[in-house]
Amino acid sequence: MTTPRGLAANYIAGEWSPGDACERLPVTDPATGEALGAVPDSGRTEVDRAVAAASAAFPAWRRTPVPERARVFFRLKALLDEHHDDLAVSLSREHGKNVAETWGEVQRGIENVEHAAGMPTLMMGDTLEDIARGVDCETVRQPIGVFAVITPYNFPVMIPLWFWPYAVAAGNTVVLKPSEQDPLTHQRVVELAEQAGLPPGVLNVVHGRKGTVEALIDHPGVVGVSFVGSSQVAKIVYQRAGAAGKRVQALGGAKNHMIVLPDADPEMVAEAVVSSVFGSAGQRCLAGSVVVGVGDAYGPMREGVLDGAASLKVGRGLDDGVDMGPVISGAHRDRVTAFIDESERDGARLLLDGRGASVAGYPRGHWVGPTVFEDVTPEMPIGSEEVFGPVAGLARAPSLEAALDMLAKSRYGNAASIFTNSGRAAREFRYRAGISMIGVNIGVAAPMAFFPFGGTRNSFYGDLKAQGRDAVSFFTDQRVVISRW
Ligand code: NAD
Repeated sequence: MTTPRGLAANYIAGEWSPGDACERLPVTDPATGEALGAVPDSGRTEVDRAVAAASAAFPAWRRTPVPERARVFFRLKALLDEHHDDLAVSLSREHGKNVAETWGEVQRGIENVEHAAGMPTLMMGDTLEDIARGVDCETVRQPIGVFAVITPYNFPVMIPLWFWPYAVAAGNTVVLKPSEQDPLTHQRVVELAEQAGLPPGVLNVVHGRKGTVEALIDHPGVVGVSFVGSSQVAKIVYQRAGAAGKRVQALGGAKNHMIVLPDADPEMVAEAVVSSVFGSAGQRCLAGSVVVGVGDAYGPMREGVLDGAASLKVGRGLDDGVDMGPVISGAHRDRVTAFIDESERDGARLLLDGRGASVAGYPRGHWVGPTVFEDVTPEMPIGSEEVFGPVAGLARAPSLEAALDMLAKSRYGNAASIFTNSGRAAREFRYRAGISMIGVNIGVAAPMAFFPFGGTRNSFYGDLKAQGRDAVSFFTDQRVVISRW
């Protein structure tokens, strides 16, 4: 069954239900301010219904042969390929980033579907004959039950796909709670999953915000929680679900450093830094945020970043030639602007000011232009707190050692990059950075479906990360069987 366009409905036991009793939250186009639809703010009743549907679907789905489960994902992959362009356009409309960026996001999501389709191999266990005389030992990976997946607004198609395809292909059932700010395009993905043959109740969707999340993670029928969002909420979710004895992986916020050594190619640095900091208007957990020029690298780096940032075309992501779209909401624009005000008061020197940006023809868009500060230190909020907007903080360091000290002071540990021609310096950085996702001459250490994804320090609460083999481990329990005949 297909939902009417613009209506974000809950999807429970294979039925789309508008959640009539719930308050509705608006979904808007961040470039035009136009209403795109509304989403139910679901309470406990809707959550109970979704968990009951997922619990009821679990026994039969678990017994469905793994290759048969995997085939649903082969079909979903083909449908996603077929609808790739439409999904990218829809995503640009509700999120704001440009279509090249949303096309890339959909592609990264599809790669997770492809990877999850390999579940017959990914789930295999180990066997050892004669672990004692005439005794054999083996491990089998088994699904566990109903998982909750709670996701943020910045990659609303890709991030749910970091989790639910693995959970479901492994034989679990899922209740997904997408971001209430831009849930419409992933709803289309769920429709395609239904078309691919996913049985009713295996994947359920409940919309809402804080109360919905709390009802979901507290629910005794939910065995595990995958969460992505700000560190503040990630920590709460981790503690609350952990206290109830559930498996949790909670990915949080970031403050990513990029270190530029004097032997790096200045053109490559400028291009990589500008794209990392200002791509998706800075609303990426992998966005570069503090750019540290070591010694003589500072001058050319400063010039390259300033020129690149000043030349970016800001506008509606659906329009041709636009480099940078709006931020998600008026409230978020005001938050980023307040951060810029505060950083100026703290003594960071403003080189390029994106406050008060406007775009012809879009008076109601949530615009913040590219912004660049220098003289940023780890003691200032601009040097230590997540902005999640198009703001670069430039800093100087006399040596790689001093730059690594700056990194060591960060309470976040999501991503960091080094730019250099020296293999030795790159190795030293990789060895000592203490950060989870490391780029060497790469501005965005992007999530690759076949590898794990997730940070350290306050950027991640848990053990097993998203994607890759970690996802298979998170969504299964290893059972050990010892036999004598
Ligand atoms: P958010 O924390 O506000 O919301 C994330 C999810 O939690 C949403 O579904 C939201 O409805 C829900 N939520 C919000 N407040 C809650 C509360 N008090 N209790 C329970 N649930 C609550 O995050 P956001 O603004 O949607 O996304 C941006 C954040 O996500 C940034 O901090 C960014 O760095 C982070 N992020 C991290 C990664 C990563 O891989 N580490 C990836 C993407 C985004």
